[in-house]
Amino acid sequence: MNAPSPPSTITGDTPARPLKRLFIRTWGCQMNVYDSARMADVLAPLGYAPAEAPEDADMVVLNTCHIREKASEKLFSELGRLRVLKQAKEQGGDRMILAVAGCVAQAEGAEITARAPYVDLVLGPQTYHRLPEMVARATRAAGAVIETDFPAEEKFDFLPDSTTPQGVTAFLTIQEGCDKFCSFCVVPYTRGSEYSRSAATVIAEARRLAAQGSREIALLGQNVNAWHGEGLDGKTWNLARLLRELADIEGVARLRYTTSHPRDMDDELIAAHGDIPALMPFLHLPVQSGSDRILQAMNRGHKADDYRRIAEKLRAARPDIALSSDFIAGHPGENEADHQATMALIRDVGFALAYSFKYSSRPGTPAAGATMQVPEAEKDRRLQEIQALLREQQDGFNRSCVGRRCDVLVTGPGRHPGQLAGRSPWLQPVHFVGAGQQPGDVIAVDVAAALPNSLAVHPLERPAGNGPPETSPQPPCQEKAAA
Ligand code: SF4
Repeated sequence: MNAPSPPSTITGDTPARPLKRLFIRTWGCQMNVYDSARMADVLAPLGYAPAEAPEDADMVVLNTCHIREKASEKLFSELGRLRVLKQAKEQGGDRMILAVAGCVAQAEGAEITARAPYVDLVLGPQTYHRLPEMVARATRAAGAVIETDFPAEEKFDFLPDSTTPQGVTAFLTIQEGCDKFCSFCVVPYTRGSEYSRSAATVIAEARRLAAQGSREIALLGQNVNAWHGEGLDGKTWNLARLLRELADIEGVARLRYTTSHPRDMDDELIAAHGDIPALMPFLHLPVQSGSDRILQAMNRGHKADDYRRIAEKLRAARPDIALSSDFIAGHPGENEADHQATMALIRDVGFALAYSFKYSSRPGTPAAGATMQVPEAEKDRRLQEIQALLREQQDGFNRSCVGRRCDVLVTGPGRHPGQLAGRSPWLQPVHFVGAGQQPGDVIAVDVAAALPNSLAVHPLERPAGNGPPETSPQPPCQEKAAA
């Protein structure tokens, strides 16, 4: 459950109590997490407050992700469990509104209402602002209310201001949709074409987040670096320009953005990494394959060497930058030479972190119907090779941090008594024994040890959260992770 809005209450002589309870289950990416919080914001004025579990809820929203393997099977098995709860509620004279949102709803709305006619609402990602009206319609009439069109109005113009504090680290969606139509991806079909929010609305939301205590803001978008919104001067701004403006907001110590496409990695954005200190030296830049033949089959619009050049330029602009990426093993038509080209690209670039998957077909995408599908066993072998190399690089990168000095954003208590947790500039979780530091402080630390998925650090002797962090004279990412 994502953090929904604070409980609505009845005022006056009546003791304060929430009117209705809302439970949202979220699958998938950070954009879905953000969307779930915004759905809670939209429903708060109707009296919906957070529920801990579906059993306690008057409304359950399943916010789905189509990228996940077997997404619709998982959805229908969850719906089967919820049907039992819904029926039990109805037998007790109560009602539970059951909604399916997100990309599976967008892509398979008709199938959902056919196979699960007890679902009350089916809504695609572009129609969350219409939720209150849909709930009203579902309350009045029997049968599912479906909204999976791409409405003429932009949802961001109709969503209320976000009111829910997200904590020390926060997400902020600035862009949605995609016009690139990669062969394997459903996003252009489920999220529609690219849309950029205006700089004014993004800056206003960032200011609210900072006022609520967020110190690190991650800008989100399916093609976040394709952002080109109306600027404060009425002209079209690019992401580099927006980042400079956001970096000036008081309280914002760190900025990140994800997910980016190599085609939109322009020189201005690369330069921004060199001269905006708040922009963290970590970039998730999916490449998917190191083979030009497969990149073309994927319709990625760039070559492997373009990616190598971008990595070089980024490292020239910001020597301590670490790269993360996505890889697909076994795209239709991929042969051993293509696979080896991917391995070569991984070795050449060096990644601090990466996500890798076997190709699996998504209905409705061009690659799903392609001939020359790669046998499962072969996909498995290639994926294992890719993952072994990436793991080696990740371990090498984490080890290269030991003995270095960097800054850490304190995010909250650690797992053990007296411990605090935080994040390095390179997104590694860190933990240390606290000595008066508070969540939101940015403190200088020495890295003492690299554990499998985190760093152990020692805070330096200086007041927490004051002044610029001290930096290592030799940032860890100057060395290639694989070296
Ligand atoms: S650029 Fe990203 S979101 Fe767009 S189609 Fe390709 S993989 Fe999907």
